[in-house]
Amino acid sequence: MKDRLAQVEERIAKAAERAGRSRGDITLVAVTKKFPAEVMREAYNLGLRVFGENYVQEFESKHPALADLKDAEFHLIGHLQSNKARLASDLFQTIETVDSEKLARRLNDAGKNLEVMIEVKLSEEESKAGAAHESLPALIDAIRACPNLELTGLMTMPPWNDDPEVTRPYFRRLAKLAREHRLDKLSMGMSHDLEAAIEEGATHVRVGTALFGPRKKE
Ligand SMILES: *Cc1c(COP(=O)(O)O)cnc(C)c1O
Repeated sequence: MKDRLAQVEERIAKAAERAGRSRGDITLVAVTKKFPAEVMREAYNLGLRVFGENYVQEFESKHPALADLKDAEFHLIGHLQSNKARLASDLFQTIETVDSEKLARRLNDAGKNLEVMIEVKLSEEESKAGAAHESLPALIDAIRACPNLELTGLMTMPPWNDDPEVTRPYFRRLAKLAREHRLDKLSMGMSHDLEAAIEEGATHVRVGTALFGPRKKE
């Protein structure tokens, strides 16, 4: 894991340099779905502090074993059903996948201060998750009206493609939407396309495979 982390760090640093950006403006989110708490602790011991988890219940079972990692930050990066909003607000500091006003209201009603991002769906091919870009203005207004939620950015998961140049236009569109709505954070880019994402302005890259190796089949 140490070598893999060094490789990922080097890729991030080089992409940042090409883009004339500072490494400090980019957060590496270690995506740990399907890996046990011990792997997360190992990553923590190597200096990683921000973790991305996809499933509320999976993380619910891992998090007691990580309770002593006080400065670790946990982001939900998978789709959240509104009936799990309260549990998610107990477990995570940031919900990157808010995609409806109903979900925003449920998270707000849970009563805890939460950072949130909106997951944007930029293509019809994508899974059901994510807010359509036409619905963004109303959703942004609704979240900004929620006293317990701090809206900081946008997140997207483009249709899978091996070629980062096919994905790059999605990253560019997300960055444009964030500028239009005065949102600072952009969560985009994964193991195979983090360079393109950073060149297009990503502040958060979500990296699993390149750090931890292949996951068990989903
Ligand atoms: C699994 C996952 C990632 C990480 O993907 P890798 O290709 O393993 O880096 C990033 N974002 C989301 C939303 C994911 O579900």
